[in-house]
Amino acid sequence: MKNSFLIGSVLLALAASVRGQQDFSKVEIKATHVAKNIYMLEGAGGNIGVSVGPEGILIVDDQFAPLAQKIEAALKQLNPGKLKFVLNTHYHGDHTGGNAHFGREAHIIAHTNVRKRLRKGPSESQPGLPIITFDDSLSVHFNNDEIKVLHVGPGHTDSDSIIHFTGANVVHMGDSFFSGRFPNIDLAGGGDVRGFIRNVEEAMKKIPADAKIIPGHGPLSTLKEMQEFHAMLVETSGIVEKAIAAGKTLDQIKAEGLPDKWKSWAAPMINTSRWLEILHRGLSKK
Ligand SMILES: [Zn+2]
Repeated sequence: MKNSFLIGSVLLALAASVRGQQDFSKVEIKATHVAKNIYMLEGAGGNIGVSVGPEGILIVDDQFAPLAQKIEAALKQLNPGKLKFVLNTHYHGDHTGGNAHFGREAHIIAHTNVRKRLRKGPSESQPGLPIITFDDSLSVHFNNDEIKVLHVGPGHTDSDSIIHFTGANVVHMGDSFFSGRFPNIDLAGGGDVRGFIRNVEEAMKKIPADAKIIPGHGPLSTLKEMQEFHAMLVETSGIVEKAIAAGKTLDQIKAEGLPDKWKSWAAPMINTSRWLEILHRGLSKK
């Protein structure tokens, strides 16, 4: 058992060093048509949602700062119009890193806590901060669509929003949904395991059956993949909850691991061991 822990931590350290040295020059931005005038861009970091049309461009999230020029080039390929709005689904750097670049021409819109958490120091005019903030929800009427932005309670962080392109029938879930992989839950950033699961359940009730769903991470999805994600959350959190109630330690929980059927959900960012740590910490707090 000792050995497998050792291998586990070596792998974690390796994954961390790979992330630290991420070479953005090798990243290519891939565009996928989602529905009607909506596209999804994948590069490195969170998936980007794009609305293109007669009024120009709106994007949801903007990945890492070093990718801004490549993202800009990919947007130009989709539509020659101006970038008018950037919506941030939450504050994490793999979703807001391009803000400083794109904020020069576009208005950045996000939940109040995104601005709060991104703001460092006393300067009010820091580049890349959302300039339009909201507490509960707002709509952007753009490209003949109503784009609804809905803040949800503490889940992935305390700054999460879900975005619904109502006319195109597309939902961008932000990091409230990792398709086919264990999610990160940022407990230090106001996240909450039970709240995360609740947010997924509430969203599943509201999303139309035939909607296309852009996850924060992972491939373009539908309600089917979200139901699988929900089943994984309920089952794996249930296992850890029971183990905590039985007085088991984190080390014991990790040694027991998860049923084989969840093996494929382990990803470099959040492997099984890291996921168990998040569940253990998140479910231990009263
Ligand atoms: Zn995130």
